[in-house]
Amino acid sequence: MAYSELYVCDTCDYDATLVHAEEWQAGRNGEISPYPGYGAFGGLVNRLWCPECQTVRPYVFLRLSPPADHAVVAYAEAQRLGCDGRETGPCPACQTELTWQADTVPCPSCKTGTLRYTGGWE
Ligand SMILES: [Zn+2]
Ligand SMILES: [Zn+2]
Repeated sequence: MAYSELYVCDTCDYDATLVHAEEWQAGRNGEISPYPGYGAFGGLVNRLWCPECQTVRPYVFLRLSPPADHAVVAYAEAQRLGCDGRETGPCPACQTELTWQADTVPCPSCKTGTLRYTGGWE
């Protein structure tokens, strides 16, 4: 039940997708991978804009311990903790506070365009 927002540069074809409450699974090196459709759920992650890195970074707001077999466990736990998928936190790369404000940020690819909110989907 993740919710995605697409931002597209008004000058080049660069785009960025922010995601609310995506199910994730720990990858081989501990990275936060989108849930592949099988195996255990690690929890829920938001993918937000880092103004410093100028790219999308993951912020894990729910980490199940141990990982659960069903996504419903993750959503029930998120509800219990009062999470709504709008949580923000520090960038895992540079520690800058991540933001949902990707609309009108300068395009990191062409440097002349501006990212614009284009649409969202579940
Ligand atoms: Zn651009
Ligand atoms: Zn960063």
